[in-house]
Amino acid sequence: MQYDLILRGAHVIDPSQKLDEILDVAIIDDEIAAISKSISDPASREIQLKGKILTPGWIDIHAHLYPGSTTWGIHADAHYLSTGVTTAVDAGSAGWSNLSGFIDHIVAPSRTQFLSFVHICGIGLTYGPLPEMTDLRYADPERTAFMIEHFAEHCVGVKVRQGKDQVGDNEVIPLQKAIHAAELAKVPVMVHIGRGVSLPQILDLLRPRDIITHCYQGTGDGILDENGLILPQVFKARSEGIFFDVGHGVGSFDYGVAKQAIENRFVSDVISTDLHAHSWDKPVASLPQTASKLLNIGINLRSIVAQCTTNAAIAIGREDNLGTLQVGTVADLAAFDIIEGTFDFIDVRGHVERGKHLIEPVLCIRSGSVYEPDELLSEVQEDIAKAKFQKQLNSKDWSALGWNP
Ligand SMILES: [Zn+2]
Repeated sequence: MQYDLILRGAHVIDPSQKLDEILDVAIIDDEIAAISKSISDPASREIQLKGKILTPGWIDIHAHLYPGSTTWGIHADAHYLSTGVTTAVDAGSAGWSNLSGFIDHIVAPSRTQFLSFVHICGIGLTYGPLPEMTDLRYADPERTAFMIEHFAEHCVGVKVRQGKDQVGDNEVIPLQKAIHAAELAKVPVMVHIGRGVSLPQILDLLRPRDIITHCYQGTGDGILDENGLILPQVFKARSEGIFFDVGHGVGSFDYGVAKQAIENRFVSDVISTDLHAHSWDKPVASLPQTASKLLNIGINLRSIVAQCTTNAAIAIGREDNLGTLQVGTVADLAAFDIIEGTFDFIDVRGHVERGKHLIEPVLCIRSGSVYEPDELLSEVQEDIAKAKFQKQLNSKDWSALGWNP
């Protein structure tokens, strides 16, 4: 057997196969061809990864990746490949009316695999300054379901944001419409939770495999009761198969909530960034950085890897091919160093936690192609500059400043 690539001697963690040992991995074309203690057959290229952690390619199930069409969207293709992320899911930037633009202009030209939770609001998150679901005429379950089915290769579910800031006085009606669409298309819903709509009321409507995102948010109506204990409805939802996702973002990772939850034996199922123009440079940075925050407050590395790979794949219904190093699946892999030192991590409230471990990406393989962070650096910097411009555009009080070009 002649392989295209062999990755040698890494500490492989693959939660899907319960692997946690030193192994070689061989790739032919865009597939994993072999995984074993020692591969003796030749390969066109070999990479030594002794001392590194090697996992399935990481999956970020919550980000905003539709720049030029939405006020928060970012160009993150190079960023993801430089941080070990091989699949990222846009969480509702597109609705049914602008989904095909997302597929043509973002999904098609990208090396990272981009997927979509299609927003129940037909125009998605085009215009951030205004709430998207105060006017229910924007919700069209049938057309949403039709587009999800039509573009099934690219779509994994329906997105809805259920804070009062997004739905006004409509309470859980947007969620009911999202579930209607999800039932027609036979996909899960991802529900953003936030202040002003009761979480038990939301959980009551959810079905097994639906996803709560922003599980460690501290704005109100979160997973904790007034005594800092996990709501019984949250444990019940988990036992029924509902997933809880981090969705860090600019307002939803609160160390106080996360630490309290972990103390109460409640750990997220999936870690995601909610990366967008306002969260990228600070406080999120990247998925490995977000994962490092949880690693340093007591979540073990195997759970961290599971939450960023296998669990994430299950949450988006792609576990047959993603989040695994099983022979015959797509060759998406990520290698990391766990650096020991002193590192400061910040949450959305500006609270700083000092940690001793940092998960540092060293190599990413997407569909058999190898990417190193250094070679993507200038591309990432260009994209960060564009995101900063967008953030400034969104943030300035233009009317107060007057027109002063
Ligand atoms: Zn988001």
